[in-house]
Amino acid sequence: VDVNIVPIPGRAKNTTNYIVLLYDITEIRRLEKVRTDFVANASHELRTPITALKGFSETLLDGALEDREVLIEFLEIMLKESSRLDLMVQDILQLSKLEQKQVRLNVESIEAESVVKEVFQILQQKAELKDIELSVVCDEPVYLEVDHDQLKQIILNLVGNAISYTPEKGIVKVELGYENQEAIIRVIDNGIGIPLEEQSRVFERFYRVDKARSRNAGGTGLGLSIVKYLVENLNGFIELNSEVGKGTTFEIRLPIRFENKILTKK
Ligand code: ADP
Repeated sequence: VDVNIVPIPGRAKNTTNYIVLLYDITEIRRLEKVRTDFVANASHELRTPITALKGFSETLLDGALEDREVLIEFLEIMLKESSRLDLMVQDILQLSKLEQKQVRLNVESIEAESVVKEVFQILQQKAELKDIELSVVCDEPVYLEVDHDQLKQIILNLVGNAISYTPEKGIVKVELGYENQEAIIRVIDNGIGIPLEEQSRVFERFYRVDKARSRNAGGTGLGLSIVKYLVENLNGFIELNSEVGKGTTFEIRLPIRFENKILTKK
């Protein structure tokens, strides 16, 4: 609590009364902590690939350069680490832009299945490498009043994760539809799942259930926090249902405008 004491002249002569103002700053302090934690975590996360880049380039300069096989192996690692660094900086910048409301939105009526297909195209190679089948189920066209790029980002992050955390020959499915006057997007996989005790934490920035696996999959630990931010910004909800070894479903519910519902009845 912040306290402010303001003196005012008392009723009796030569006396002073005081007004004591108490400010509840719990929320302000919480936000400050979120911010400082974020800076600390971001610096730590950025240092990991930087340390790797430094280490490998130093070893090369110390003589490993002579061995062509080692040289190629090290350069490949360095390329991977720089790409990770790049992705991480992009994600950090995106989060900060979103928070500062610096993103210019172009809100229009978007048909969701076409966006899912755009995402599948981007991720097709990643899925093929693991022999994972991508599919979309949509019984009636689903229209959303959103910014196209933001919707694409939400679906891209969720489907990208579903592929990353599903073993070879797995299945990744997107379901679209309307339920109880809301638009529903479900991203379903039959992958490794998320333990119950970790489920509430995966939306936190930089939180990963398994750091090594996330790093291997090229993750930044920011994908789900960006998704949650975007969904809540659209007045929607996101929740997950998961069982270890069986798979995970992320479900997004978004409010719909009345005319959207009419459009679907055509
Ligand atoms: P990352 O870049 O590490 O994937 P995210 O914020 O996207 O970061 O996800 C946070 C963590 O949640 C991941 O590191 C992973 O442990 C877990 N996770 C996310 N999606 C899935 C999924 N579909 N199946 C299993 N675990 C998942």
